[in-house]
Amino acid sequence: MGLFTRDLKTLEDLFMHALKDIYYAENQIVKNLPQMIEAASDAELKKGLKQHLAETENQVVRLEQAFELLGERPKGTRCPGIDGILTEGGDLLADVDGRVVTNAAVIASAQAVEHYEITRYGTLIAWAQELGKDEVVPLFERNLREEKAADKKLTSIAEARVNKGSTRGKRSAARRSTRARKVAKPGAKPRKRPAAQRRRAS
Ligand code: FE
Ligand code: FE
Ligand code: ZN
Ligand code: FE
Repeated sequence: MGLFTRDLKTLEDLFMHALKDIYYAENQIVKNLPQMIEAASDAELKKGLKQHLAETENQVVRLEQAFELLGERPKGTRCPGIDGILTEGGDLLADVDGRVVTNAAVIASAQAVEHYEITRYGTLIAWAQELGKDEVVPLFERNLREEKAADKKLTSIAEARVNKGSTRGKRSAARRSTRARKVAKPGAKPRKRPAAQRRRAS
């Protein structure tokens, strides 16, 4: 955009550009997620991605509502950021081999997408508030909540299942101690937490 003209002159212009950018991005994600779902073989990962695809379709509708509230027609503008992230994810999937490694690659690529979205919604919320466009803030906040939840879910799937399979026999000390805690005998004396953690809890 704006090869010869600087067409974004106000914060309002910048805000509308960002809205069109995320609208384009969400639509590209809707097109791209089926490929990740297809590549994933871990049942929980597949299910989580399918659920997020349904959420993403809703997010597109919320963005259309935002355009409407702002008195504009929904319109996208090409986002090289998301194009790059999705291209990179597709390239990676073409290169990986094996079930466990593929699942790990899907998770890494999906989390890159979520993090991009999280930055964009954070910015949109801040600019909408600054511009007094409070009516659209809850729509962005709902999308942001879903992106954060999706990111968290991916982390927990990775930590609980996928990574464990890809590092069989080479479990880190941290993971071993997590397991040890989980399988501790019922009624066993709880181990003392470090002082810093105890202070935070009280
Ligand atoms: Fe999204
Ligand atoms: Fe962008
Ligand atoms: Zn742009
Ligand atoms: Fe997302």
